[in-house]
Amino acid sequence: MARLTLDSYEPHDERPDAGPVLEDPSHLAGVPDEFQRLWTPHRMVYIQQGQQRPSGDDCPFCVAPTLADEESLIVHRGVHAYALLNLFPYNSGHLLVCPYRHVSLYDEATAEETGEIATITQTAMRVVRSVSHNDGFNIGMNQGEIAGAGIASHLHQHVVPRWRADANFLPIIAKTKALPQLLGEVRQALADAWPR
Ligand SMILES: [Zn+2]
Repeated sequence: MARLTLDSYEPHDERPDAGPVLEDPSHLAGVPDEFQRLWTPHRMVYIQQGQQRPSGDDCPFCVAPTLADEESLIVHRGVHAYALLNLFPYNSGHLLVCPYRHVSLYDEATAEETGEIATITQTAMRVVRSVSHNDGFNIGMNQGEIAGAGIASHLHQHVVPRWRADANFLPIIAKTKALPQLLGEVRQALADAWPR
């Protein structure tokens, strides 16, 4: 079997100064957003269902538990709360921890709900750390649209893994953020690592 070595490597492009070729993303599925992410296919389902600004029965965090884990990107189901991957991830492995009950504000949640949101958040940290070897986390809740909640009507806690190298120049310079893993693969890896 031929083995590629530095000595044997012959670039296909014969132009000596040819740099990397960027693919024009305009023909790919998805809707451009602020970050112009390089990969978007899983977002299409979400966008087609009109779930970005839900109202009433369309609340994605009420609908998600009624779907299969693979479809809803649920990683873990607890008694009062569950964890799923964010369809609009800030980083690969960005999880949301939600109560099943449709409540908007943290002080509307019961002690059982806040308790399980806390324990799922702790487990999520351990699972994400074991799978992705990240260096830190951002954890928190945006309460109300004015505070930045994308889906303000249903409480959700963000668990965002951070790497020392993730603050690269792309989002700042080009508003482009490359997500290195497909959401489905990330969900499977986290679900497999979740303690039972
Ligand atoms: Zn809801």
